[in-house]
Amino acid sequence: MTLEEAKALRESWGDKPCDHPSFADEYMFGSKTGDFVCEQCGRSFTKRQRDNLSQADNPRLNRFLQQKNLIKERLDTLSHRKSKLTVVAQSESGSSLMLLEALLKDQEQLILHAEELIQIMDQT
Ligand SMILES: [Zn+2]
Repeated sequence: MTLEEAKALRESWGDKPCDHPSFADEYMFGSKTGDFVCEQCGRSFTKRQRDNLSQADNPRLNRFLQQKNLIKERLDTLSHRKSKLTVVAQSESGSSLMLLEALLKDQEQLILHAEELIQIMDQT
């Protein structure tokens, strides 16, 4: 991530708290600076700061964050192919339609589980 991109991210993220879920290499004039940028809030960290933060991680949390990124990436890919997706959505049968239906159900579950967890976390 370039310094300009990081700055734009910081400005759009504002003062909200951030758990710094994932980091990207920081680039200046096309070269890595050796520092890292939080991909969510745009804050810059030295390698040491980043390593200290990730020590708080555990395998379950890492898996959660990794899968979250994969889900986002795959769903973005699908929605960028909207015309093909429309054809699938309008079809009457077929394996693509079955997959789309399964995806819709899983998305529903994902939303419900996340909402439930958020509610519980808000209460504690
Ligand atoms: Zn952050």
